[in-house]
Amino acid sequence: MKILIINCGSSSIKYRVFAAEGAGEPKDLAGGAVSGLGQSEARLEHQFQGRSLEWKLDRPDHSQGLASIMEILLHPEHGPLRDISEVGLVGHRTVHGGEGFSSAVAIGQEVITKIERCIPLAPIHNPANLEGIRQAQALLPAAEHVAVFDTAFHQTLPPRAYLYAIPYELYEKHGIRKFGFHGTSCRYVSQRTAELTGLPLEKSRMVICHLGNGVTVAAVQNGCSVDTSLGFTPLEGAMMGTRCGDLDPGVVLYLQREPGMSHAQVDEMLNRQSGLLGVSGRSNDMRELIQAADDSDQRCALAVEVFIYRLKKYIGAYAAAMGGIDALVFTGGIGENSPRIRELVLKGLGFMGLELETKLNEEASQEDRVISRQKTRAAVAVVRTQEELMIAREALALVRNDAHCAALCAAG
Ligand code: ADP
Repeated sequence: MKILIINCGSSSIKYRVFAAEGAGEPKDLAGGAVSGLGQSEARLEHQFQGRSLEWKLDRPDHSQGLASIMEILLHPEHGPLRDISEVGLVGHRTVHGGEGFSSAVAIGQEVITKIERCIPLAPIHNPANLEGIRQAQALLPAAEHVAVFDTAFHQTLPPRAYLYAIPYELYEKHGIRKFGFHGTSCRYVSQRTAELTGLPLEKSRMVICHLGNGVTVAAVQNGCSVDTSLGFTPLEGAMMGTRCGDLDPGVVLYLQREPGMSHAQVDEMLNRQSGLLGVSGRSNDMRELIQAADDSDQRCALAVEVFIYRLKKYIGAYAAAMGGIDALVFTGGIGENSPRIRELVLKGLGFMGLELETKLNEEASQEDRVISRQKTRAAVAVVRTQEELMIAREALALVRNDAHCAALCAAG
């Protein structure tokens, strides 16, 4: 059986195809993305058997984008599928499942209704995810469709971590609480770190730093998320590319009162004009900021310094929340690729048993690896996140378990 993973955003559709045989791990066959949906410069980038190919598309919508993806996947030379019926399972990355979902779930009308109810919590992402589900169900009606939620992994947070210190009724009546995001990445990275370091997952305290344009720091104790930096929305937490992270809510009140900024202006400023971009005044791209800081741009140097300082505070806080730390893990575009940022984050954290081995940190390697000195109290690791593989694993586990249950029922 082949598994198709779809990550449908507002302007892009990412996809991957895996093969599942027996009880084994899904095997990666092909993948790519349609970017620029609705635009004249839209394109489809596709990787198959070590080759990368690219096509221009003319203003595709979600339906046309997905149709182009199926066309290339069925291409005799460029695709891994010979017939559409080979796809038995479709895993949909779904951003917000609210409190309703703590694991993967087969998509029926009830699940669609619950995802729709979460639209106010993720107004950009959930409608795009739903569109992807609708279009994929139309193209692949015989396949089982499964939703895997970004919020699911963090459903193990205890109330002390997910409640805000505001009137409890706001949680009861309006569901205002911390949800967290990047859960699929954190689940994969924590499992992979246990494999890499030999730490038993069910008896470990990890702090995961997913550092991309969006940033999540997560405290994962015994394999379960116990705290996470993103909140009710993806604005809370560490500093991000264009998002502010933690901020005195009084600043929002002040800006609306004194300079008289509108709700929309504050929203735009906090989501798209803040973070690395806001402080540097130049870019949200960490590579550019490091280069500019090296060329003596003070504001860029300051943006990197604030980013590091805020991250360190989260690492310390989460180690305290778990009563210690056994592993600190870096992932995401910045975490995986920047030895410089990893070194700056680790500077001064020797008191927590975290010590980098410089040579391992600076190695130009794409491999998952441990980069701490031997015989230190805690490991430091770099792991390439593989959200699509994790979605495939979770979707497969769900249908295998269902098949197992069906067989047990049939056997009486
Ligand atoms: P997204 O959250 O959009 O998925 P990514 O995980 O792709 O983001 O991360 C994007 C970030 O990774 C950008 O800030 C980019 O500058 C940074 N990045 C990628 N490669 C490097 C590198 N070699 N050094 C520093 N930062 C890097």
